[in-house]
Amino acid sequence: MSFIVAIDGPAGTGKGTVTKILAKKFKLINIDTGAMYRCVTLDMIRKGVKLDETDKIIDILENIKIEFKKENDKDLVFLNGENVTEKLRSKEVTNLVSQVSGVKEVRLSMAGLQRKMAEGKEVIMEGRDIGTYVFPGADVKIYLDADLDERAKRRFKQNREQGINIPYVEVLENIKMRDENDKSKEIGALKLARDAEVVDSTSMSISQVVREISAIIDKKKKEIKLQAKIYKPRKDNAWKRFVRCIVRAVLVTAYRIAYHVKITGNVPREGAYILCCNHINYLDAAAIVLFNKRKVNFVAKEDLFTHDILMWLGHLFDAIPIKRDMQDIEAMKRCLKVLKNGGLLGIFPEGTRKGMEKNMKAKNGAAYMAIKSGVKVIPIGIHGTFKPFSKVYLNYGEPIDLSDYKNQKDKLDEATELVMNQIKELMEKESTN
Ligand code: C5P
Repeated sequence: MSFIVAIDGPAGTGKGTVTKILAKKFKLINIDTGAMYRCVTLDMIRKGVKLDETDKIIDILENIKIEFKKENDKDLVFLNGENVTEKLRSKEVTNLVSQVSGVKEVRLSMAGLQRKMAEGKEVIMEGRDIGTYVFPGADVKIYLDADLDERAKRRFKQNREQGINIPYVEVLENIKMRDENDKSKEIGALKLARDAEVVDSTSMSISQVVREISAIIDKKKKEIKLQAKIYKPRKDNAWKRFVRCIVRAVLVTAYRIAYHVKITGNVPREGAYILCCNHINYLDAAAIVLFNKRKVNFVAKEDLFTHDILMWLGHLFDAIPIKRDMQDIEAMKRCLKVLKNGGLLGIFPEGTRKGMEKNMKAKNGAAYMAIKSGVKVIPIGIHGTFKPFSKVYLNYGEPIDLSDYKNQKDKLDEATELVMNQIKELMEKESTN
């Protein structure tokens, strides 16, 4: 499975150093995209190709071979089979690279190559446009920043350590020029991605930066692991059915001890239906699932699956996790599959607890699926305080046929309102009981 960490930011923020440490720590493939642009630049310098000689640039791009290798724990870059790691940092390359990387053909070719290099792999990529252009869907996006002076000082020191003697003022001017070039590129300009985490390294040590980014990567990895657990498809085999039967019996007994459950109406023995109920308490979905002779696949907020026991119960009863505040197409597909297989689908159209009380508009998902699949909606009104030993009324209404709304997308609100009005009536009926 692929996992992409994008580290973007201007020159001299410590991206290279930090990325190398993080790559080792998290066992990620390190792709230094700046080095790729430097390779193209070096090749152009050697072949005497100018910035406006597009045909010759295309020829270089078509034949270029860039490889990243690790030898004796050192990261090396090979250009057409030659180790050019040191040469890429030369003054000539550094002065020209931000202009070369602004050439449209170079940009498109390198971005394509970067995407290919990362395909299906776990990588950390440092550059300028990784989180915005190359991988806008990267799992982790970091924008590493620092004050201009601090960046120039770092680069000056780094150069000296590598035996490169460029005066400080020249280093500063070069960084300024590259910042401007990088920010004004037509494609893949250096900018902050909306969902990137900004880390300002001006007064931070390398290890502090590494620690901060590591925490972000760790958090994301945990989230991905949890998502995989939530969405892992689980078969409904005999053992699962047996466990469900036992658990249901235990929970029904507990429910009946805690509450006096009064049920009126029911669900037809066969056929697909969408059960739409008002939502007043976390235990109302349980009432519908437990006191139904047929299996009900309830749609449940994804957050509910973050608790171990609830996740286990959710999977046992084949609840359908749904992402909040977005159109969850995958969840919708799973719901439609239940209906196609003649099952019962449980939904709270309010989307949240006590939505009606809060005057929130009910969601159209249930009506949409009913119309799309030609399945009827069974309204349910639930009423109760859910205080221990109190009464809980569960009233099933007559199936509602929404087929008149077929091909009338603009009338979805009306269809939802029709269902909600029935639910309200059923709730009131209970309260007068
Ligand atoms: O990171 P480094 O200083 O090696 O990058 C060299 C140059 O390559 C940058 O100044 C920038 O102009 C360009 N570059 C880019 N997009 C990237 C990475 C680097 O335009 N993703």
